Parts: sequence; C-alpha cells; structure tokens
Amino acid sequence: LLLAARQAGAALSVLFVDLDRFKYINDSLGHSGGDKMLREVAKRLVAHAGESALVARLSGDEFALVLPGADRTRTIATGQRLLVAMRQPLRIDHASIAPSASIGISLFPSDGDTLDYLLHCAEMAMYDAKAAGRNLFRLFSIEMNWAAQERLALESALRDALLNEELHLNFQPQVFLRDGRLYGLEVLVRWHHPHFGKVPPDRFVPLAEDAGLIGTLDRWVLERACAQLAAWRHEGIPVPTISVNISPGSFRDPALATDVAETLSRHGLPAHALVLEMTEGLLMEDDAGIAATVAAIHAQGVRLSMDDFGTGYSSLGYLRQLPVHQLKLDKSFVIDLESDAAARELASAVIRIGDSLKLAVVAEGVENDAQRQFLLSQGCHMGQGYLFSRPLDADAAAQWMKSQHPAERAAPQPNHSLR
Ligand code: C2E
Ligand code: CA
Ligand code: CA
Repeated sequence: LLLAARQAGAALSVLFVDLDRFKYINDSLGHSGGDKMLREVAKRLVAHAGESALVARLSGDEFALVLPGADRTRTIATGQRLLVAMRQPLRIDHASIAPSASIGISLFPSDGDTLDYLLHCAEMAMYDAKAAGRNLFRLFSIEMNWAAQERLALESALRDALLNEELHLNFQPQVFLRDGRLYGLEVLVRWHHPHFGKVPPDRFVPLAEDAGLIGTLDRWVLERACAQLAAWRHEGIPVPTISVNISPGSFRDPALATDVAETLSRHGLPAHALVLEMTEGLLMEDDAGIAATVAAIHAQGVRLSMDDFGTGYSSLGYLRQLPVHQLKLDKSFVIDLESDAAARELASAVIRIGDSLKLAVVAEGVENDAQRQFLLSQGCHMGQGYLFSRPLDADAAAQWMKSQHPAERAAPQPNHSLR
C-alpha cells in the first residue's frame, strides 16, 4: 500500500484507535462481554472507515487503520465519523454501554515514510488524545515525539529517584483561621534531580501514575511522613495530624489498607494521627474495590479528606456515602475571592455543603488576610497557604511549630469526625 502510494505520489494516512476504559468494561462484564464489545467495535470500524481502508487489530483493544489516498482533510472527516459511530450505545447481555475511542493520526508523506514509523507517530498522537480527555482524535506533530522522549527520560529518572533517595518531603501547616493555631501538616513530596533540576509534583505525580510507579511513590511518602511524625512526637513537638496525598492509582490497590495499618503500627502512631487526601476524580470511578479499600482504611480510624473539592464532577450523593471527614476547598476558588463574585459564591456554597454534611472544611491557597476573613465569615475554620507558611522542609517545619504560640502548643485534637 505504502509502495503504491509512494509510486503514485498519493497521500495515505494511518489511524491508531484505542478504546477508552476498556479494562473497566472488561472487568465488569467479564471476558465474553469484552469480546462481544471488541467484535462490535471492529464491525463499526470496517463499516465506517471507507471502501479501500485496511483495518487490523493490533492487540487487546487497539486497532490500526490504513486509509490509502486519504489526505489530511479526508482523514479528519473519517476520524470524526469513526468517533460518532463508536459512541452509539451497545447492548451487551443486560447492560447498555456507550463505547468511545481515542484516535491518533499520522499522514504520509509529511509525518514519515515507513509504515512502522507512521504507526509509531499515530500511537503518540493517540496518547495525546487520551491525555486531552479521550473520545477524540489528534493529528501527530513532531513536538509529540520530543515530548514523548522527554517523558521517557523523566520516567526512568523517576525510577532511579525512588531508589536513590532523591525525593524528600515538605510540610505545610494547616491552621485554625481564627487564631493561627496548628491544625495539622500536609505532606508534599519534592524531587530535585541533578540534571532536570526541581521537578514539580504536578509533573511527576501523573507520570508516576502512568508508569505504574504511583504505589511505590505514595508508600514511600507515607513511610517517611509517619517516621517524621513519630520523631517529632518523640521530641515533644505536638503535631495533631499529618495529611498525606494518595493518588487514585494507589486506592485501586486493595493492599493499601493493610499497608497503611502496618506503617502506622511500625511507627507506634495512632490511626487518628493520619489523614489521607484523595481527589474527587476517584469518586467518578464509582468502583466497588475502591469503596471497599476506603471503607477498610476508615474502619481503622484513619481519616479521609476530599482534596481539590469543587473542581471535579463528583456526585454529592456519592460523597455522602463515603466516610470522608473533611473537604479541601480548592485554591482556585480562594485565589479569586477578592476579584470574582462567582468564586465567592462557589466558595460559600462549598463551605455550606461541608457544613451540612458535618465535614471539616480546609481552605487551600490562603495568601492574604482578606481571604482569611472572608472564609471565616462564611463559616470555614481551617486553612493553609502562604499567608501562614509556605511548604517547609522538616527542620524548618519544626522551627515553625516551636515558634507558634508556645503556650498553646498542646492544641486539642480537632473533632470533626462524621461517623
Ligand atoms: P495539592 O494537594 O492541592 O497541594 C497543594 C498545592 O498548593 C501544593 O503544591 C502547595 O505547595 C500549593 N500551595 C500551598 N499554599 C499555597 C498558596 O498560598 N498559594 C498557592 N498558589 N499555592 C499554594 P505542590 O506542592 O506543587 O503540589 C501540587 C500537587 O501535587 C498537590 O496538590 C498534590 O495533588 C500533588 N502531590 C504533592 N505531593 C504529593 C504526594 O506526596 N503524593 C501524591 N500522590 N501527590 C502529591
Ligand atoms: Ca492535597
Ligand atoms: Ca488541593
């Protein structure tokens, strides 16, 4: 085909099609259901790719299409058609499913001139489509190749970092907004790489998720955080709680609950000294396994906090069922409090939701006193942010705690548990 295109000076395109969330569907419908779905998807691809198209199954839920004679415009039209065809609901046994796919596209001759390389480019573009939110297509661009190479380099550097102890922890005080008393510390991971420099967690945490390293990373942080808390308690520095961020990928591992319990007991810490922050995205998965893990963690007495609350799409009904004891008002609302009436409305609404569900609300990103006062006036009692302290390394955090209200250091344990 490629030879013919080359000789005729004609265009050709390659589409890399990957089903979205196929693993979940396979898990919930069983393999025979998954197979039915794959057969139906293959049928749709053949039916909508056009007469001369070549359709091949690469593996699992991945398909490749070659469209001889298709230039950019025609390929885009085909891509659009395929996405629409894909989304038609499908009955498997008694379930109705709306499949969707992410499609990456590469073009001959502009992107490459071997089929292997074109397929590679289309695959890169497919990953870009996934990252951009799934159920869409993307054309390959050369930047994707650079980005992919940089990503690979960073990924292997992260593997090394976990082995070579290049990571360390910062601690950011969470305080009572009224008087600045310490409520708890949030643990934030830091990575200083000899060559890449300081890599922000917003960059490498998602990378760790994709690379299957998140379980290792989150457990490393949990272990170090508990060790630090135990050391502080030993020195007589009363830290009420530490909050550790746990990614969705770690909650999907059923071993998390026992690992948490073991870590606490190894350091002689009570369960209520630990808060795990989870993100709203986790709720959207509505997965029985995750719910069981969350319940098992809660049953130990470890408390759970809903991070970045207000930014996702979590259903309030589901939130009520989860044993969450606190909400964190996302900093994007707090930062715009002075300038944006809508941010004020939303912040108040979130605070009221927290209130009515009897949850503690901790505001993030409090940078000035006007924000602090507004939050207090709306009934939000806890906050963290640069106004109180930046994230600090362990020594600086200890200094900060010693200098804060020495007389009131033995702050009472916050008591906001719902159940
Ligand atoms: P997050 O959990 O929402 O953490 C709060 C982020 O806000 C932190 O960014 C913190 O440094 C920043 N911040 C604190 N106060 C202020 C403020 O007053 N103004 C502004 N503009 N920002 C403030 P950081 O440390 O870069 O962390 C980013 C994200 O990375 C975290 O968001 C969290 O989702 C993730 N992350 C950090 N550490 C870990 C970790 O140990 N494990 C996992 N799984 N994720 C982590
Ligand atoms: Ca957090
Ligand atoms: Ca947050």
